[in-house]
Amino acid sequence: MKPVRFRYEAPHTVEEAVDHLSAAGIGGKALAGGQSLVPMMNFRLARPSVLVDLNGIAALRGITVAENHVELGALVRHQAVADSERLRHALPVLARTASLIGHWGIRTRGTVGGSVVHADPSAEWPAVLAALGAELELVGPSGTRRVPAGEFILGPLTTAIETDEILARIYIPRAPAPLRCTIEEMARRPGDFALAGSVAVHAGQEIRWTFFGLGGPPETVAVAQADRQDEAALRQQLTERVAALEVTGDMHGGAEWRRRVAVAVALRAWRQIA
Ligand SMILES: Cc1cc2nc3c(=O)[nH]c(=O)nc-3n(C[C@H](O)[C@H](O)[C@H](O)COP(=O)(O)OP(=O)(O)OC[C@H]3O[C@@H](n4cnc5c(N)ncnc54)[C@H](O)[C@@H]3O)c2cc1C
Repeated sequence: MKPVRFRYEAPHTVEEAVDHLSAAGIGGKALAGGQSLVPMMNFRLARPSVLVDLNGIAALRGITVAENHVELGALVRHQAVADSERLRHALPVLARTASLIGHWGIRTRGTVGGSVVHADPSAEWPAVLAALGAELELVGPSGTRRVPAGEFILGPLTTAIETDEILARIYIPRAPAPLRCTIEEMARRPGDFALAGSVAVHAGQEIRWTFFGLGGPPETVAVAQADRQDEAALRQQLTERVAALEVTGDMHGGAEWRRRVAVAVALRAWRQIA
């Protein structure tokens, strides 16, 4: 399959990219790693009239590990996260997340920012960034704004970004106290999109699980540390909370099956951090 005809722009600054997107209106699309957008264009599920390639914009690259936060340029590739020694030390869950995504070819081209803006319900990054309390920096014609990652995804393939905005950078706080966090998922084969997954965070008096792969935006449930008497009690609590989530079935499994998988991976994640 081939995409419909489009005009190609290759700006070198975020401002130029925003100008191109503004001028193009709803026909404009940013291109990052192309691992989701290009297949959609080839299947003609996306028909942009103007493609604005972000890959020449140096300001969208780079990994910064500061004392209180980690900063990722939107164009940082999944594999660069997996390979970063500094990140592995600062927030090991990021490297683990990257290693769960697709295979080598996908990881070396696909970007963290592209994954977040694409907003596939089974994608790992939106859930991990929401679980860690990350903020997304969006740049548009009227300036820059920051949106909490947990509020960015509105539904499947739908986010709070405007058609003329670029996701520029991602800010992930490093908790003052050591934060224990991991991600677990179930997929048909290693590297496939998750059928259900969970990011477990143990911070202070609370354990939080952020679920993905359930059909909608990432959803977080919390259990107070004091209520976690043993694993049977925890399973019961998780089962009750997951029962209250909106879950969609598909050809791989019904909603009830997905809920059971979600509880199983959440417990697996908990065992990792406990
Ligand atoms: C075979 C295969 C397996 C995969 N497996 C997984 C998996 O297991 N888990 C997973 O999470 N993903 C998986 N992916 C998707 C992969 O992670 C993509 O990298 C990701 O979804 C999109 O990132 P990208 O950089 O390729 O974005 P693109 O495809 O270039 O763009 C995706 C969307 O985001 C927009 N966009 C991109 N960057 C920006 C930006 N900075 N600002 C504004 N808009 C932007 C584009 O306009 C487009 O709408 C898989 C893909 C393939 C082909």
